[in-house]
Amino acid sequence: MINRNKGFANLTAGYLFPEVARRRREFAARHPDASIISLGIGNTTEPLTPHIAKAMSDYALALSTPEGYSGYGDEQGMAALREKLAQVFYPNMISPDEVFVSDGAKCDIARVQVLFGKDVKIAVQDPAYPVYVDGSVVIGAAGKMKQDGTGYEGIVYMPCVPENNFFPDLSVVPPDSVIYFCSPNNPTGAASSKKELEHLVDYALKRGCVIIYDAAYSAFIRDPSLPKTIYEISGAENCAIEINSFSKPAGFTGVRLGWSVVPKKLKFADGSLVHSDWNRVMTTLFNGASNIAQAGALAALDETGLSEMKSLIDYYLENVKTMTAALSAENFKKSGVKVYSTGNSPYLWVFFPGYKSWEIFDKILAECNVVVTPGSGFGPAGEGFVRFSAFGHHKDVNEACKRFSRLHF
Ligand SMILES: *Cc1c(COP(=O)(O)O)cnc(C)c1O
Repeated sequence: MINRNKGFANLTAGYLFPEVARRRREFAARHPDASIISLGIGNTTEPLTPHIAKAMSDYALALSTPEGYSGYGDEQGMAALREKLAQVFYPNMISPDEVFVSDGAKCDIARVQVLFGKDVKIAVQDPAYPVYVDGSVVIGAAGKMKQDGTGYEGIVYMPCVPENNFFPDLSVVPPDSVIYFCSPNNPTGAASSKKELEHLVDYALKRGCVIIYDAAYSAFIRDPSLPKTIYEISGAENCAIEINSFSKPAGFTGVRLGWSVVPKKLKFADGSLVHSDWNRVMTTLFNGASNIAQAGALAALDETGLSEMKSLIDYYLENVKTMTAALSAENFKKSGVKVYSTGNSPYLWVFFPGYKSWEIFDKILAECNVVVTPGSGFGPAGEGFVRFSAFGHHKDVNEACKRFSRLHF
């Protein structure tokens, strides 16, 4: 019989979201009258803007005509879209042929792991978005879960906690590592400053590391002093790949469209270009993003689209304000509850002293009928925290916030 991929055997059971769903289901079965509000999974809730939807609908209808039909396109994406992405997000930093259009950021992160193979060293922020670690385990770049359950062998975890302002101590990262870095961060919401990112780039350049910079929430940055792309930092073009997506800013979680940036200056130890191998990955293992989704992305990047996307993000950021105010109430403060939110991301990262993440999860579910995400599910440094997501209708978030007043710690 065929041997199982050892990476899959090493992977511990998908625990976080299935367990959240299980506890929610059990609670609902015991309390059939409870109206449960989810501030848990980071899924978008507001509809596509009409302008973007119309562009996709027009494109789809045209596909039924001889003039409008197109089959396979360039695997790297439509030329017009690559140009627009370079112009809107990386003016004077990145050229269109360094931008690759894809079916989403998560898929790109998985493909990046193919690019570096199983012999590469990995460093991740702790807590972190799960695919960096889980994907590394699958491809064999990490070993087994450690005995004490605090992480996988072969992965360097960089704690990001209030004590270091959620920016890691990089000295734990060995030379020649791939460093996964997400800013604004999921789950902590922390957005790194220019100075912090300069330090990150400087470290990577000195130690021969490559940064995989996940900028899926860059459009949520409202503080003009914060960098929106790693390429605002000089030298990043020699050490960083950036990955981004229309999922969160444009509600494309179901439509599916993202992009990656691989600068031509980025090189492997043997002097070959990472760009050439990435081009190979995208043409060999991927076959181009949906042309309908690309038409939607083009519309999202014209004047109307950009302003509609901004309004959509403002809508979610309004929820951040509402939740921050509710969770900063005097009685919470007195119990030592700390809300970490900078207003530059859709997540609130909240610390409850004296409780484990799952205990807070259960308490908020039982007393408020609100589902959140336990911080410990994102890594050992997330213990004691929970993540509140701002993806929700205003009326649901307002109702959830009213219910928070029932909580006592
Ligand atoms: C949601 C999310 C993604 C996934 O984006 P898709 O384009 O929908 O695959 C990537 N990175 C982070 C940090 C996310 O939260």
